[in-house]
Amino acid sequence: MSTTYKKRMQRKKEYIDSRIDEANIDTGIIVLLTGNGKGKSSSAMGMICRALGYDMKVGLVRFLKGEQQTGEDLFLDNHSNIFSAHMESGFTWNTQDQELDKKRAMETWLEAKKFLSDSKISVVVLDEITYMINYNYLDEAEILNTLSNRPENQHVVITGRAASKGLIDASDTVSEVEDVKHAFRANIRAQKGIDL
Ligand code: ATP
Ligand code: MG
Repeated sequence: MSTTYKKRMQRKKEYIDSRIDEANIDTGIIVLLTGNGKGKSSSAMGMICRALGYDMKVGLVRFLKGEQQTGEDLFLDNHSNIFSAHMESGFTWNTQDQELDKKRAMETWLEAKKFLSDSKISVVVLDEITYMINYNYLDEAEILNTLSNRPENQHVVITGRAASKGLIDASDTVSEVEDVKHAFRANIRAQKGIDL
């Protein structure tokens, strides 16, 4: 190993160690997963597994839940630390009843608000809520206000395409998942264990 390489790595380690020492704050954060690529909701489910591993309580709220049950619904819904609320609706283009969708969105949001005021719930997942704001089914200002008044140590994971600027600004960690390729475009239907 060359000495310059060793020195470079040493400096890098020192820098990383100092950054790790500086990051000494513990607080609830908002993680936003947006973009057109696959991996947003399943990433949220991954964080749920992490939280459950530490015996934390999780509120799982799914807006725009499709008719098809997912593997995680089957696996997680009966878990004693999961508190869930699902919007009883398919996609808008299936139901084609805007008023009904709006009413159901509101009902589901009221359930979400309960979780967002309960300090015993450590992580709240708001799956596909971005669409509720973009379709004007829910009021962005009310959502942002509820998020900023949630218990201090509560984490929130938000998923959905085309997140509004308000949601991005309110979030601490934001990832945009890019759609580089998707198997569906090669006529491969949604696969159990991967897509649902
Ligand atoms: P996942 O739940 O797999 O993490 P996601 O939450 O990122 O996906 P959504 O927009 O919520 O993506 O769509 C959910 C479903 O649509 C999943 O079955 C997913 O595989 C599929 N999907 C996601 N992105 C694409 C895409 N770019 N093209 C086709 N199908 C997609
Ligand atoms: Mg999703």
